[in-house]
Amino acid sequence: MSTFRIGLVLPDVMGTYGDGGNALVLRQRLRMRGYDAEIVEITLSDPVPDSLDIYTLGGAEDSAQRLATRHLQRYPGLQRAAAKGAPVLAICAAIQVLGQWYETSVGERVDGVGLIDVTTSPQAERAIGEVTTAPLLDGLTAALTGFENHRGGTKLGGEAHGLARVTRGVGNGVGDGLEGVVQGSVIGTYMHGPALARNPELADLLLTRALGVTELAPLDLPEVDQLRRERLRA
Ligand code: GLN
Repeated sequence: MSTFRIGLVLPDVMGTYGDGGNALVLRQRLRMRGYDAEIVEITLSDPVPDSLDIYTLGGAEDSAQRLATRHLQRYPGLQRAAAKGAPVLAICAAIQVLGQWYETSVGERVDGVGLIDVTTSPQAERAIGEVTTAPLLDGLTAALTGFENHRGGTKLGGEAHGLARVTRGVGNGVGDGLEGVVQGSVIGTYMHGPALARNPELADLLLTRALGVTELAPLDLPEVDQLRRERLRA
């Protein structure tokens, strides 16, 4: 196949806690299996292409989040790619940006991109700390682990499903016990970490979908297993 292209969307405004690392993890897991893979950075100076194989978006503070929202509305390449089935991984603020609307921490309501059926409002307390969950998505079996830091609580509408059930931490934070969101080809999560470094099964699920294969050769990476053991114990 030709070079596999990973879109790192707006790393200039979205990418707290090393979320850009998710693109590195995807590229590395592909290269270790002999695929030719590259990261395409899409900044606020670029239109958003709809031709990439997979897209990742990181978290952000309120003001950066607004800039990203406006850019994605102006250049709807991500929405077109998702409609064609390209996997999209949205971390934290990116869930809020891709939703119907979100309210900032000062209560201002901002129209989102409308790609997923979620809405977000600030909660009384900021959720900060380790989050551990049991996946609800077919194809995931292992516990998910991440670090969350958000004030927004995200409510899922009828079209959206939870990624996982919270066993420790807060998750979406609206009392339904859910963490993250799955809708069509979009997977959203509040897990920083970066999420894919801590959760290789999720990385490979995204890659199998993007490649249109049923499975990928397993990778023997004891240091990743070690990292998971440490984080799950923490
Ligand atoms: N500003 C958003 C919130 O606090 C997102 C934060 C983040 O991406 N870490 O809910």
